[in-house]
Amino acid sequence: MREGIIYKALSGFYYVDSRGESFQCRARGVFRKKGLTPLVGDQVLFQIENETDGYITELKPRSNELKRPPVANINQVLVVMSAKEPEFSKNLIDKFLVIVESFDIAPCLIVTKKDLLNDEQIAVIEKHLADYEAIGYRTYFVSNLEDQSALSKILVDGINVLSGQSGVGKSSLINAVKPNSNLETGVISSALNRGKHTTRHVELIQVDGKYLADTPGFSALDIAHIDKYVLKNCFPEFAAREEQCKYRECLHVNEPACAIKDAVQSGDIMQSRYDNYLQLMNEIETRKARY
Ligand code: GDP
Ligand code: ZN
Repeated sequence: MREGIIYKALSGFYYVDSRGESFQCRARGVFRKKGLTPLVGDQVLFQIENETDGYITELKPRSNELKRPPVANINQVLVVMSAKEPEFSKNLIDKFLVIVESFDIAPCLIVTKKDLLNDEQIAVIEKHLADYEAIGYRTYFVSNLEDQSALSKILVDGINVLSGQSGVGKSSLINAVKPNSNLETGVISSALNRGKHTTRHVELIQVDGKYLADTPGFSALDIAHIDKYVLKNCFPEFAAREEQCKYRECLHVNEPACAIKDAVQSGDIMQSRYDNYLQLMNEIETRKARY
């Protein structure tokens, strides 16, 4: 029995990386009976049949999973925002950060297209990034044109996934670190082109021993799975202070003696973060009212 990680799933086959060796595996019926489908990112035990093939016998419990892209056990989501074109938006950054936090995954923040700004505009963005650093998020300010390998320094050990609205430079970041000649990928994409349906297919690529999903995730900002008590925990700077709120179940909206509102007043919590919190809270409340 060997241990490995599924880096690609295609047409009923699971491709498992086991200490640098690749095996094409099928899953045994036992998972189907349990209603479990192996996902890219799953840690598995598998039985070797020959030099290239095997079958998966066991899935290890997942620490988290995303639907888009369908990947499990993610160690970091890189929230990508452009400095310009499309316009820099703290509102969108906060929404993306909340969604990542809600899946129990650590986010970091990358701002791209630094080359499109003058010094004054750069200073403005840098100030915003310092505010996010103060919350505890790692931030990066890059130009994909000037630094082709920007991404390789940002990836953490394990599995990394990019997210962010369309046009911010996600594909540019991924393409810059993609191995340029991957025979296997070529064979598979021509096989896919012949088929009629365009199955969305995600693959983990290796960059300096770290994994990166080659397909970015959730550009749509769906918060349907988040309720208001989950929401407040998706703002780490709130969660860190809420023991000082008078009420244990404080939602930091209308309650008296709220440490979060005090911290916003004194400038210790960003006004924009609090405003975006209220806006998301409002979205959650209206959603509830509709049913
Ligand atoms: P995606 O939709 O997030 O995958 O974004 P793309 O990677 O397709 O990039 C959208 C456009 O922005 C493309 O025309 C890229 O060439 C351009 N782009 C990406 N990163 C940068 C950057 O750092 N600076 C500049 N000037 N353009 C960039
Ligand atoms: Zn409070």
